[in-house]
Amino acid sequence: MNSIGEDFLNQILLTNKPAHAYLFFGAENSQKEDRAKQFAAALLCREKKGCGICVSCRKIKSGNHPDFREIYPEGEKIKISQIRNLKSEARYGPLEGEWKVFILYKSQVFTEEAGQSLLKILEEPDPGIVFILTAPSPTSILPTLASRCQWVSIQPSDQSEDKRDLSWNKFIKEIPENFLKFSGSHFEVFEKTALLEDYQENKEILFRFLMTFFRDTLVIKSGWEDGIMLKKFDASEKDAAEKLTFHEIQKKIDAVQEAQEYLNHSGNFRLVIENLLWKLKS
Ligand SMILES: [Zn+2]
Repeated sequence: MNSIGEDFLNQILLTNKPAHAYLFFGAENSQKEDRAKQFAAALLCREKKGCGICVSCRKIKSGNHPDFREIYPEGEKIKISQIRNLKSEARYGPLEGEWKVFILYKSQVFTEEAGQSLLKILEEPDPGIVFILTAPSPTSILPTLASRCQWVSIQPSDQSEDKRDLSWNKFIKEIPENFLKFSGSHFEVFEKTALLEDYQENKEILFRFLMTFFRDTLVIKSGWEDGIMLKKFDASEKDAAEKLTFHEIQKKIDAVQEAQEYLNHSGNFRLVIENLLWKLKS
């Protein structure tokens, strides 16, 4: 089965241990809403894959699964009254299976008070409740909400699957040294870009790593150190959290996402990565 199509989402389904909250983000054409719904359906599915034929899948299809809720903006905004309804429903927990999933589409249009209200549930989640927020980018939603979610970057579906290998894993381990802390001479940028070119096929892993790294930095800066995901890199992340302001971290997150989107529109790898390196240099 591969209905979700991303290794790490499949992994979550396999272990059946979802996080309390996810942020699915990506450009307009990324179909992040569909992917969020597929993931929710797979999580609730009896077969853990969105089989389309079990009782749960059929209820989702017909729009009457009691543990699956989709929340859209009412008019222009997601309003406090909608979050209040959500809260009273979340309190009962799942009715039919292990999980109850709420998808909040267009999370960039929360009103301030609705956002604050949702934050309270994300900080003290009820067992069995999973939230999926969708938005164009992590920096398009309230930073406090973004830092409470696991980030899932959604690319247009014709992107090739990741191909992991050992040398790539070694390379990833060296990213904080190689990529984030470089001194910034022209020569060094060329050198590093050339090195990265060998790994073009695995660029999604690089981007996911960088996104998660800066997400963690944001999490540390919000004072929620238990929420970090790349525990192996916590020293580098703490270092970055100390040196950078919220605004600077957000700009780096935007730079990573922008680079990823350029490459999806067949931008020149070398130019895009060089440009990204300069932007990441503090
Ligand atoms: Zn099913």
